[in-house]
Amino acid sequence: MRVLVVEDEAALRDNLKERLTEAGFTVDVARDGEEGLFAALEYPLDVAIVDLGLPNLPGLEVIRRVRAAKKSYPILILTARDNWQDKVEGLQAGADDYVAKPFHFEEVLARLQALLRRAGGWASPQLKCGPVVLDTRAQAVHVDGTALELTTFEYRILEHLMLRAGDVISKTELTERLYDQDFERDSNVIEVLVGRLRRKLDPEDKLRPIETLRGRGYRFALPRDTSS
Ligand code: CA
Repeated sequence: MRVLVVEDEAALRDNLKERLTEAGFTVDVARDGEEGLFAALEYPLDVAIVDLGLPNLPGLEVIRRVRAAKKSYPILILTARDNWQDKVEGLQAGADDYVAKPFHFEEVLARLQALLRRAGGWASPQLKCGPVVLDTRAQAVHVDGTALELTTFEYRILEHLMLRAGDVISKTELTERLYDQDFERDSNVIEVLVGRLRRKLDPEDKLRPIETLRGRGYRFALPRDTSS
């Protein structure tokens, strides 16, 4: 999942980048409202974190323009504690949720994950499709109750596909969501990783969890289990 962090306080921005990367996100950062608006409009994002108090262009204005440009990914705002006007205005401008400063990183992470789940149509942090269960909090995957050992990139691909289970995801989208702009992008790498994922999820080639749609991309094909 690719996240943009728009925050002018360097220490906070660096800390969010480091912790979000550890949590499995691809992270873009912007230091002020103008940079943030550019990134928010141009980068292929899944979610954004926007501080409201920003130099050059206020966070509220960034959000309004992003929404005016019909970008619909979830936005989490960072607000000053006890400033209810900020929260209300942020939500009215098109943000989806807020966290008040100072915050614990875990709170930001939990809210981001919840926003991404809801955007994908999931209610619970456990994504279940047939015998495959992916726990977004623990970053753990089980098939028929057996834990799988996945690399970071394998996990990220699977999480992306399962969050949007049933949708076709292009190779370009997967590549863009997995690597930040400093990486060389190569869709052959995605093919190799998807191949490895298939063998780990389905060693006997019975489940066929990941479909390839020629020229269009991949689809997580096992039906969603939303009963729990
Ligand atoms: Ca600020």
